[in-house]
Amino acid sequence: MRWMPAVLLALALAGCSGDGPRGAREGTASESPTTTASPSTTSPPRPPLAGRTVVIDPGHQLGNAAHPAQVNAPVSGGGLTKPCNSTGTATDAGYPEATFNWAVATLLRRRLERLGAEVVLTRSSDSVAEWGPCVDDRGRAAARGDLLVSIHADGSFAPGAHGFHVIWAPTVRGSQALARDLRAGLLAAGLAPATYAGEAGLDSRSDLLTLNLAERPAALVELGNMRDPGDAARMSSPAGRQRYVDGLVRGLRRHLR
Ligand code: ZN
Repeated sequence: MRWMPAVLLALALAGCSGDGPRGAREGTASESPTTTASPSTTSPPRPPLAGRTVVIDPGHQLGNAAHPAQVNAPVSGGGLTKPCNSTGTATDAGYPEATFNWAVATLLRRRLERLGAEVVLTRSSDSVAEWGPCVDDRGRAAARGDLLVSIHADGSFAPGAHGFHVIWAPTVRGSQALARDLRAGLLAAGLAPATYAGEAGLDSRSDLLTLNLAERPAALVELGNMRDPGDAARMSSPAGRQRYVDGLVRGLRRHLR
């Protein structure tokens, strides 16, 4: 309960401000002057992701560190008990994971909406004044769409550790296929699989409530290692973030085609 009604309201309002599928349809019905078809009988092509709903979970929240009691409170589901949430990591220069996740999630939302998809976000801000939602609520939010993608970045201090990995839970049907498609998209965008986690960019885990409690296919992407200078530079630049989004869009289109 807690914050959810406010979030739902904020999401409903946010949906009014984006450049949605309407823009994608404009300009598609350009008739040649020689055609005999009446414009009223020509329907524009259906956007590729029309009728699809993608739930995007921007990991953590900027204010989590300021709310330790709430963030450390235990939540349970599926036989697991975990802290509500965590603070996330940061680059050595102090760029917070929560803010990176939010930036990628909102860019991804815009791209998916242009392709005709509906998008649901599990949090409605990146704010030092706010915390959560808890991981159980994030996982359950998958039921509001066709699938859930949770956006994260890692914080490994292992020397040379870099690259992305996509995590899925073996108990949630369809998640392995989603993870494979997201991996394919990220590879196609020229991004390297993790050198230090998972195998060839994929990792199966059973200990994450965000994934375990999803009632739709769900994957958690660790887009890179914020403690690696190369990954950190890419994550900290608008062009670099766009590249991660390119990979995610490719993966989602592949999965939802
Ligand atoms: Zn994270």
